[in-house]
Amino acid sequence: MSQHDRPLPEGLRPETLAVRTALAPSQYGENSEALFLTSAFVQPDAETSARRFAESEDFTYARTSNPTVRSLEARLAAMEGTEGAIATASGMSAILLICMGLLKAGDHVICSRSVFGSTMNLFAKEFGKFGVETTFVSQTDLNEWRAALKPTTKLLFAETPTNPLTEVCDIQALADIAHGAGALLAVDNTYCSPVLQQPAKLGADLIMHSGTKYLDGQGRVMAGALCGPNRLIKDVFGPVMRTAGMVLAPFNAWVVLKGLETLSLRMRGLSEQAMKVAHWLEARPEVARVFYPALPSHPQHELAMRQQGGLGGAVLSFELKADSPEAARAAAFHLIDSTRVLSVATNLGDTKSIITHPATTSHGRLSEAQRQAAGISQGLIRLAVGLEHVDDITDDLLRGISTLKHSK
Ligand SMILES: *Cc1c(COP(=O)(O)O)cnc(C)c1O
Repeated sequence: MSQHDRPLPEGLRPETLAVRTALAPSQYGENSEALFLTSAFVQPDAETSARRFAESEDFTYARTSNPTVRSLEARLAAMEGTEGAIATASGMSAILLICMGLLKAGDHVICSRSVFGSTMNLFAKEFGKFGVETTFVSQTDLNEWRAALKPTTKLLFAETPTNPLTEVCDIQALADIAHGAGALLAVDNTYCSPVLQQPAKLGADLIMHSGTKYLDGQGRVMAGALCGPNRLIKDVFGPVMRTAGMVLAPFNAWVVLKGLETLSLRMRGLSEQAMKVAHWLEARPEVARVFYPALPSHPQHELAMRQQGGLGGAVLSFELKADSPEAARAAAFHLIDSTRVLSVATNLGDTKSIITHPATTSHGRLSEAQRQAAGISQGLIRLAVGLEHVDDITDDLLRGISTLKHSK
């Protein structure tokens, strides 16, 4: 008997789907899903080949589909609770696919002004070039989203929580606004992953992922995905992908497929660690403010806990007390340079904790006025908490905090 004869039962829980959902094993009965490093698939005869090319269902050429990639798509869709998923070469190419599939010259997009920087550039700059207009609005003020609607609005795009200030938007409310205007809502679910947040259940039409972050979760490969109903994934985005070709490489798909098996454990463990670090930081007199959705002091705490399964995720940021922007920056640099365990880098979603100074890296190209409008001060530090022992993380922060020039 093979797995072909034993289809998975209905009603399996998310943790089980994350480990078990995949294409059936090959004739060898491998227990860990195989990595199919092949670009072409041999056809049994010309007639079958003709049908497969016409229907794009079975395997023909790896730009159309590959079994390892297909397993990842099936597993991620099961976890997000959507009919389908399509894997892409990176998170940004998933957003590119949204734009190519849904938008044409004259169309209008509404996007939070707190989304990932490259996302803003892709909408405003790259697709602006083709005559797509984007209005950027407040992450949290629903009235701004409503007021921005136009007859040409096709898409609302949101990311929650945001980087680095962890602002949370109301997915259900945005879905209602989009649908009332005949538009679609796409949500970037990179930060929470489906373990914490399933935007489809709240009415989102499309869920986008940078698989480079928590889905891989070990900082190894670039990957991305779009999840949604088949009328969008199969009928709209599938044909664009087959033509445009920003496919996920099978090796990267395999790495992320394996990453999904531990996603639930990692997201829960990381959220627990981040909560401890957030409490520890909030109790330090040198720290002015901590931004973390699971802290009761967070402005959208209740919404976040409702929307994110009661967990805060792995990313937090904090501000050091200082008398001037110059002093704040010096303090932040001192803290970062005093670490010996944390990685000084600009990424997140790794098992290794990463410490970042947003004002001079991810948000370095903004003017000081733009940065202030976005709430990115010179004293702000982002921490993507990893899986080291939590006391080693706080000890590493303490090295810098306890030796700040003005520390008591
Ligand atoms: C990293 C990231 C992206 C872009 O993903 P890549 O895989 O780097 O292309 C998009 N959105 C968010 C929230 C991200 O963190």
